[in-house]
Amino acid sequence: MKEKILEILKSKVSRKNWELWFNSFDVKEVGEDKIVFKVGNLFIKEWLERKYGSIIKRVIRETFGREIPYEIVYESVERVHSSEPLIRKRPLVITPLNPHYTFENFVEGPGNTFAYRVSLEVAKNPGRYNPLFIYGGVGLGKTHLLQAIGNYLFVNEPDLKVMYLTSEKFLNELINAMKSDEMNEFREKHRKKVDVFLLDDVQFLMGKSGIQLELFHTFNELYDSGKQIVICSDRTPEELADFQERLVSRFQMGIVVRIDPPDENTRINIARKMVEMEDGDLDKEVIDFVALSIPDNLRRMKGAIIKLLAYQDMTGEKVSIQKAKELLGDILAKGNSIDSFDKLLNALSKTFGIPKAEILGNSRKQGVVLARQVGMFVSKKYLKMSIRTIAERFNRSHPSVLTTIKKLEDAISGGNKTLKSHVDSVVSMMHGMVGNGGLFGG
Ligand code: ADP
Ligand code: MG
Repeated sequence: MKEKILEILKSKVSRKNWELWFNSFDVKEVGEDKIVFKVGNLFIKEWLERKYGSIIKRVIRETFGREIPYEIVYESVERVHSSEPLIRKRPLVITPLNPHYTFENFVEGPGNTFAYRVSLEVAKNPGRYNPLFIYGGVGLGKTHLLQAIGNYLFVNEPDLKVMYLTSEKFLNELINAMKSDEMNEFREKHRKKVDVFLLDDVQFLMGKSGIQLELFHTFNELYDSGKQIVICSDRTPEELADFQERLVSRFQMGIVVRIDPPDENTRINIARKMVEMEDGDLDKEVIDFVALSIPDNLRRMKGAIIKLLAYQDMTGEKVSIQKAKELLGDILAKGNSIDSFDKLLNALSKTFGIPKAEILGNSRKQGVVLARQVGMFVSKKYLKMSIRTIAERFNRSHPSVLTTIKKLEDAISGGNKTLKSHVDSVVSMMHGMVGNGGLFGG
């Protein structure tokens, strides 16, 4: 019966929506007079009840030939709901938000829909889905969404005190408070005078256990009084290396959502939106060109657009694709690192005789580990990739990438010939793959 319900339901929902909303959906119990479904969190439960209630009813009727009431439960760490509304007395703490970072200016696409909708729900019902943890690669819109929540509340709930902080700022404020013996003020400010706490780039606090402890207490106090907490990070809670376990589990108590890189279509729409946000005017082909040639990082795409618009402003001349290529030379070359990285993977795979997936995976086999280490080293020394990007590409933590690269550096300068020859053969193989030798420029 279980399978049958799911099968019929699946046939009535588009694939995209199935993947988006039903991936944690399951039949928990089939009784004579009640059917219980379960999902991964409260947000999905409420969304399904609202948007798919009638479809689910219909599916039950089709499966059993009669109507049976149903219930959707969610199974994650349940929180004790405080029914108290958020405190709305003191005036808003003004935090500098970028006024462009709004929900209206955020383009929805397959990679970010879930994050977008949950964020919007959080803005509409602060305190309800708590905490919200958003993670994803660099330049994919995390800060934009975080601030969109702030901007939305600023307009719609002016009595609410919203605090937006980067983790770096949080750390600096803590250090200053300690220096000037003002810890009470610091705690009062972050724990008591806030209704909505938006904390950006929490991975910045990796390896800094003192501030993690402070954050833990801040978190608990806000959470216990029903205040909304939203946290952004470039990795999942579990991947926050040496974060205290109890803090990680706090982050997982509510909803964890991922932002994936946008597909081509979404990138084009985002590029258009960026031009519009700048009050600019670029030819359609130029926008498409920019959107398609800068694939991995929207911040870089925005930089490119601003550069082209500035050129138009200054010269009064409309930028053509040819001109755009010329003006964006440096930015486009960096975008190329994707191709270079592919070449590196191919070269590693050939040199060491190991499939690419294994190199990027978790295998601890000696040969695989060596291939991976050489890969990180070459990424840094020859492809000039940042540690952060290398960590992302190889799916390793920032500190472990640093240690590896340092280790290989020392070994090679210490005269390890085998290692040196591995590196050389990988590099020359990559050269061979490039053809015109343009790989290592810059
Ligand atoms: P992150 O914090 O994830 O590194 P940002 O939020 O800073 O990324 O986004 C980088 C740039 O791309 C910002 O200018 C942001 O406005 C823009 N951006 C990202 N995603 C979108 C989107 N879906 N729609 C419109 N603009 C976006
Ligand atoms: Mg950011």
